[in-house]
Amino acid sequence: MALIVQKYGGTSVGTVERIRAVAEKVKSFRDEGHDLVIVVSAMSGETNRLLGLARDISSEPSSRELDVLVSTGEQVTIALLCMALHELDCDARSYTGSQVRILTDSAHTKARILDISDKPIREDLAKGRVVVVAGFQGVDENGNITTLGRGGSDTTGVALAAALKADECQIYTDVDGVYTTDPRVVPNARRLEKITFEEMLEMASLGSKVLQIRSVEFAGKYNVPLRVLSSFTEGNGTLITTEDIEDMEQPIVSGIAFNRDEAKLTVAGVPDIPGVASRILTPVSDANIEVDMIVQNIGVDNQTDFTFTVHRNEFERARRIVEGVARDIGARAVIADQNICKVSIVGVGMRSHAGVASRMFKSLSSEGINIQMISTSEIKISVVIDEKYLELAVRALHDVFELSKKAEAE
Ligand code: ADP
Ligand code: ASP
Ligand code: MG
Repeated sequence: MALIVQKYGGTSVGTVERIRAVAEKVKSFRDEGHDLVIVVSAMSGETNRLLGLARDISSEPSSRELDVLVSTGEQVTIALLCMALHELDCDARSYTGSQVRILTDSAHTKARILDISDKPIREDLAKGRVVVVAGFQGVDENGNITTLGRGGSDTTGVALAAALKADECQIYTDVDGVYTTDPRVVPNARRLEKITFEEMLEMASLGSKVLQIRSVEFAGKYNVPLRVLSSFTEGNGTLITTEDIEDMEQPIVSGIAFNRDEAKLTVAGVPDIPGVASRILTPVSDANIEVDMIVQNIGVDNQTDFTFTVHRNEFERARRIVEGVARDIGARAVIADQNICKVSIVGVGMRSHAGVASRMFKSLSSEGINIQMISTSEIKISVVIDEKYLELAVRALHDVFELSKKAEAE
């Protein structure tokens, strides 16, 4: 008998039939004697629908009110899942984030969890109830509803598992584990039995939305055993683990991530003098805009080009700021490009292998793909390329690093 936290994502609770199927699954675990805390997302498409309504009313809706609005999606599914469990004679109770008291900071739409009071949950578990908690939402110290950023129900699940010292946190979704890359883009991508926290963190932060990045951070920090599984099929899924997979078996590259959400800004003809990088980026960060990749060329004729990427949602704001700075510092022009994407290869095996970057670049060049920006760390290499080559690039890299199912069988 174990204490298990299970999180079911949007497609897993996307219809009344799916909610019934989840209830059956939960009941079967309960019948085996496990204590269960269930976290659910909103029905698939619901959060987008609600955000659409907000956009129809206002071009810049208040973030506090956005949280009040989008948190309703998860309130629907907790109640429906409990009703479905009751129909199966399984005692269950639903809780919103504020009822559990998932205390967060006040950063609306991207709040961070500060504390979770596990007492009410433990009391219910002791009474033999299944506890169903709304994902994605919390409450700040003034009682305002907050949300944790898109995909945040994963983080609710992991944070609850950490607070309750659960034996495992299981993330049920519409794929049966973490794959070498998004199986929607590369159909012969291979499911990984295990992946290290370090690699999963890179994959998530570089765009693999199968797990929200904060959930992986949380799981790594509090040592929560984390598993990604399908709610549609049986199987072991993928275990996210701290142990380094045996050197012999360790592939150089474990996975390929990509991100379509970024846009690029170049300040061209910047005077090549100390302090300009800070003059360009300080107002951007002061406006709370996160900058991802940065490239500055070597100056020629006392001029240089300065390029960086930001999230597309913040692109227009960043562009306005940078155009102002460019005028102030006497730069020649600001060039904006939204048709880019970032493709990254990730693997702890890279540490012990030279020549990974050249293999990556050669593969892209043989497909005629031009690399616009490069950034590297010990276990990843990212490139920015034209968005229209995304799928071609991911497939080519998947082949060159022998990640497909066929390669495994050979
Ligand atoms: P949920 O609604 O259950 O939270 P998400 O849509 O957030 O589900 O995450 C699951 C999706 O993540 C999959 O359908 C898949 O397309 C995508 N995905 C991206 N990268 C990967 C990967 N490396 N392995 C598995 N799935 C991935
Ligand atoms: N419903 C929220 C979203 O769509 C949270 C989640 O599904 O994890 O982003
Ligand atoms: Mg998700």
